[in-house]
Amino acid sequence: METYDALLASITPDSGETRTILDPATGTVVGQAPVHSIEDLEKAVAAAQAAQPAWAGLGHDARSAALLKAADAVERSAEELARLLSREQGKPLNGPNARFEVGACAAWLRAAATLPLEPETVVDDGETYAELHYRPIGVVGAIGPWNWPMMITIWQIAPALRMGNAVVVKPSEYTPLSVLALVHVLNQEVPEGLLTVVSGGPEVGARLAEHPAIGKIMFTGSTATGQAIIRSSADTVKRLTLELGGNDAGIVLPDADPAAIAEGLFWGSFINTGQTCAALKRLYVHDDIYDAVCDELTKVAAAMPMGVGLEESNVLGPLQNRQQFEVVARLVEAARGSGARVLLGGNPDADQAGFFYPATLVADINNNNPLVTEEQFGPALPIIRYSTVDEAVEMANGLDAGLGASVWSADVTEARKVAARLDAGTVWINKHGAVDPRVPFGGAKQSGYGLEFGVEGLKALGVPQVING
Ligand code: NAD
Repeated sequence: METYDALLASITPDSGETRTILDPATGTVVGQAPVHSIEDLEKAVAAAQAAQPAWAGLGHDARSAALLKAADAVERSAEELARLLSREQGKPLNGPNARFEVGACAAWLRAAATLPLEPETVVDDGETYAELHYRPIGVVGAIGPWNWPMMITIWQIAPALRMGNAVVVKPSEYTPLSVLALVHVLNQEVPEGLLTVVSGGPEVGARLAEHPAIGKIMFTGSTATGQAIIRSSADTVKRLTLELGGNDAGIVLPDADPAAIAEGLFWGSFINTGQTCAALKRLYVHDDIYDAVCDELTKVAAAMPMGVGLEESNVLGPLQNRQQFEVVARLVEAARGSGARVLLGGNPDADQAGFFYPATLVADINNNNPLVTEEQFGPALPIIRYSTVDEAVEMANGLDAGLGASVWSADVTEARKVAARLDAGTVWINKHGAVDPRVPFGGAKQSGYGLEFGVEGLKALGVPQVING
């Protein structure tokens, strides 16, 4: 018996094609997910079109009230949701993992419900009076990844619903149960047909991206899929928010205190066992403190328990799928083969069930090594030496990705100057990857475009309309 049994039963189909979902930590069966078809997608889009005008007609206050109730519903089911998420995705209950993710869902719903968005008077000079309003788009498509399946779904649908839209959600085929369960809970508080999950493969995502009745796609996933979505959405000139792959750099300035920053560096990089878009994926450390940072980071990383998610003591879990495990293993082998020094990890246990790859730190590695230039999306951090800040900035800016970055220093003013030189959508100081529902978040370069969160994030789910006169 599991606490989530009733929830799982309510999303398990009685008939039709299903996909068996296995726990990435143990290989045991978690449940059966429906395999929805293009026909199911068409039905969901039609239901969304039918439900959307009345929802839009409710106005902001009533929609916000429903979203606040939905946040309460998520909290009432928090433990069931967290345990199911842990089993399907692999992430532990504790640490910045499953319980944290479900808590973030409630927090982002509340923020989307309560952020003020009034029409803006842009000109009022006696001759011209112009106001800027945001009208609902209509039906929004939300396509998501497998690393933070519940939280990213909420990031997409909460502002969409607040702004008066209906949503059709296409979850990753690796983590459909988490999204189906979350949306089942949300649907206790919103009208029927307004919010539907279509749990299908890439072909369902591709159809959503070209569908003439869809006004906007919110997409989080890989850069390659983002490019495919740009192409398939072109004929209908859809609005897009694209949160794509990242390869975030962190720069440690010579005045930083290695012992004081080690834990922040660790979680910046290893949150969700490294499977995070805006995780620290390349660490640049000044020569003067290189060895000390390596030592302190190794101490912190070596003490972090990794294992099955439902065991309360663990804070690191498995990779979610074999494909990602193989990416990490290949990149660490490439680094080792090039002569880089493996400080910790790098030796997965072939006899262990599940896709566990140990926390790995790789020092004395060249900046052009594949572990640096490709997104590892797992628990293996390359640590690169630098001797001048100019050199560090040039290396940090040297890739096509530009999601996040961080600067670590005892002198915040100095750190801000370096931050301003980095080509990234967000630069954190003395932390990495800390997202906040009030603060806009989005990528630079090939990490995507459009902002999520905050008032900017609400505006992105509306159609601007100027009333002039
Ligand atoms: P993915 O691109 O493989 O899949 C994402 C989703 O797109 C899935 O639901 C998939 O079914 C769907 N899809 C696949 N082909 C499609 C097509 N042609 N048209 C429409 N939809 C299609 O990504 P993933 O492997 O699930 O996620 C990992 C990647 O996501 C990493 O690169 C990571 O950096 C990125 N990511 C980015 C952010 C961010 O906020 N920038 C957040 C999380 C993950």
